[in-house]
Amino acid sequence: MTPLEELRHSGSHILATAILRLFPDAKLDIGPPTDTGFYYDIDLDHKLTAEDLVRIEAEMKKIADENQPFIRKEVSREEAAEIIKSRGQERYKLGRLADIPEGEKISFYQNGEFMDLCAGTHVRYTSKLKAFKLLSIAGAYHRGDERNKQLQRIYGTAFPTKDELAQHLERLEQAKLRDHRKLGKDLKLFVIDDDVGQGLILWTPAGSVIRQELQNFISEELRKQGYQQVFTPHIGKLSLYKTSGHFPYYKESQFTPLVENESLAKILHEGCSCAEMVARLDAVSGHFRSEINRRTGRDSIQEDRVKPDDLLLDGFLLKPMNCPHHIKIFASQPRSYRDLPVRLAEFGTVYRWEQSGELNGMTRVRGFTQDDAHLFCTEEQVGAEVQGCLSLVKIVLTTLGMADYRVRVGLRDPDSNKYTGDPANWDKAEAACRSAAQTLGVPFAEEPGEAAFYGPKIDFVVRDVIGREWQLGTVQVDYNLPIRFDLSYVGADNQPHRPVMIHRAPFGSMERFCGVLIEHFGGDFPVWLAPEQVRLVPVSDKAFDYGRSLLAQLKAAGARASFDEHSDKLGAKIRRAEIEKIPYTLVLGPKEAETQSVSVRSRARGDEGAAPFAGFLDRLSTEIRIRALPQKR
Ligand SMILES: [Zn+2]
Ligand SMILES: [Zn+2]
Repeated sequence: MTPLEELRHSGSHILATAILRLFPDAKLDIGPPTDTGFYYDIDLDHKLTAEDLVRIEAEMKKIADENQPFIRKEVSREEAAEIIKSRGQERYKLGRLADIPEGEKISFYQNGEFMDLCAGTHVRYTSKLKAFKLLSIAGAYHRGDERNKQLQRIYGTAFPTKDELAQHLERLEQAKLRDHRKLGKDLKLFVIDDDVGQGLILWTPAGSVIRQELQNFISEELRKQGYQQVFTPHIGKLSLYKTSGHFPYYKESQFTPLVENESLAKILHEGCSCAEMVARLDAVSGHFRSEINRRTGRDSIQEDRVKPDDLLLDGFLLKPMNCPHHIKIFASQPRSYRDLPVRLAEFGTVYRWEQSGELNGMTRVRGFTQDDAHLFCTEEQVGAEVQGCLSLVKIVLTTLGMADYRVRVGLRDPDSNKYTGDPANWDKAEAACRSAAQTLGVPFAEEPGEAAFYGPKIDFVVRDVIGREWQLGTVQVDYNLPIRFDLSYVGADNQPHRPVMIHRAPFGSMERFCGVLIEHFGGDFPVWLAPEQVRLVPVSDKAFDYGRSLLAQLKAAGARASFDEHSDKLGAKIRRAEIEKIPYTLVLGPKEAETQSVSVRSRARGDEGAAPFAGFLDRLSTEIRIRALPQKR
């Protein structure tokens, strides 16, 4: 363990010591350090409250002040079991003891009256824990398995100094204020409704503006780079995904296939069981198997999946990926080397089955729209195309003020032979990814063994304004799908050649990316993204006519504006615009009406005073056109 992990893990032991003093019936499970702190999972009939947390923390403080040494004790497996039983902790600890492989040392760490099965290591005295805090209580299944009992997990954190702890708590506070689930609700950006389904995002009008503006922006850049826009349906036949290999291999993360009424009626009539139906859906014909195996040159589809034709059942899959649809567009006409690269882009919606415990606001969902594209190119073009993908990412992230990002380049594991494709081509593609990453001028790490079996890839990780990292999407080189779909183009030599495919969804999905952006901006979107850009606020109803004429001019200029005609006081109107985080509020009184001016209040700069309306309109239009970031004073 690193010294920080040692400190935090010692925090777990001190937490457990305090819990047993206050709740002697508690059954302990485990208490490891985490990236940002520590936790302990306990089984306790009493449901812990925020007040309990305060008491536990006070008790921990006492234990730290008692300056107890941490003492390591190695024991035999039998002695270990005896110690656990004598302390009444057999419910979980015996299982944890059984996890320790034969031949490995078994040790306990003791501080004061408390003793815990633990490999270590620990700080020397409890008094080392000076800067710590208990943060929250959450439910956690024993061994992370929903079939097991749900335990109570107490989270805490610890730092070497009080200053570092204070900074961390400040960041947590910031993160809470920026939480996209909270802001999404307050600003009415999106809704999740249980009647529609968990993990399925309903974009409200305000949220849809943000998404549409982002899509417009990305599409503009894609057009400049020679991409062509396509649209494809949300479902595809199961046989399509059997060809691609997405089914049944990734079945666990997909929605169950759809079977249309006629086939369903037929198999019900035959008295087919559910298990048989699943097997028939998974099955392929002998011809299909030999064709795929011929293309891939190996036993990609095994014999046991073959069934006679009359027992095959084809259904539809909610698409887990857009690639097969785009491949069919590529393959729909003969292609020559002069046509390449073909770049097909789609904001394509896909569906994946995520466990309910994994779902989280917009960032972990079951249906999402990827900023997807597939490039079909020659071997020689891979480098330039990867480079193009990265330059797009750079433009978009820079425009959004997310200049702090890094990339990870996933390469082959040099000691493995699981990879598809010619090693010489791999070398070239890896070199292309590496040099593309280099030219970005941002930190990048090479990660051997992180490539997929079908090609190397590049991932993007951005750091937001409060220092948190978010994994976005990828650029992925693929030698496999062109083989499985038997794609070809005619080369300069008049012979058929295999194209290389590049999958790229650099921002991941619109859902995830918007979730990240909500937190990044804390809801204060740049004016080009803001759902409402300008709020007109009259001082009294005498300014109504003036206000309405300005509203008409703003709308004619394409701005998203509204006029607050509520009957409440000016202060209340201004406050409402602030809560709604409208970038510009224009206050209008008789003086402004007379001089065709407005009093400008901006989110970024506060009260800016009076300005001619025409000048304001110019400035607004420019900011929108150049997609300016909020300019803080
Ligand atoms: Zn320990
Ligand atoms: Zn793809």
